[in-house]
Amino acid sequence: MWLDLINIIEMPGSRKAFECQLDTELMDFPSVESFKSAPYAKGEVVNTAGLLTLKAEIEADMVCTCDRCGKQFESVKVQEVELTLADNPEDDENPDIYVIEGNGIDVSEILETAFLLDMETKFLCTEDCKGLCEHCGKDLNEGPCDCRKPVDPRLAVLGQLLDIE
Ligand SMILES: [Zn+2]
Ligand SMILES: [Zn+2]
Repeated sequence: MWLDLINIIEMPGSRKAFECQLDTELMDFPSVESFKSAPYAKGEVVNTAGLLTLKAEIEADMVCTCDRCGKQFESVKVQEVELTLADNPEDDENPDIYVIEGNGIDVSEILETAFLLDMETKFLCTEDCKGLCEHCGKDLNEGPCDCRKPVDPRLAVLGQLLDIE
């Protein structure tokens, strides 16, 4: 969504509010199975003594896949975004600064990118998900499996010696 900033760019103390939906097609992330509804963003651009700041809150209602056990789970992510808007192309390397060209910004595109950059690297159904047994594939959250724990080779030798006696 294009947000025209022409009325606040030269007006310290002014602000412009916005609300928009984000495009899930542009928010593809491997562990996110689907979005239950379009992620929604709400915020404002504020001109503080000539410095423009974009503040927004994104809310996304997602169905994710657990990285350990593969189960699907629902997760609501609420993310606060705060970016400085500057028109100096030299600021392009700074992740906290978005370089504006012209008199406005594509606010949904900025927020879609911010959302992806903030994605956690591990998606877990519960923080202490036990995952699947690497031998039999049983979901260890439902209880232990029958696989024998791999024995330390040194103990295995000891076991053999004890067996002989
Ligand atoms: Zn899990
Ligand atoms: Zn097992």
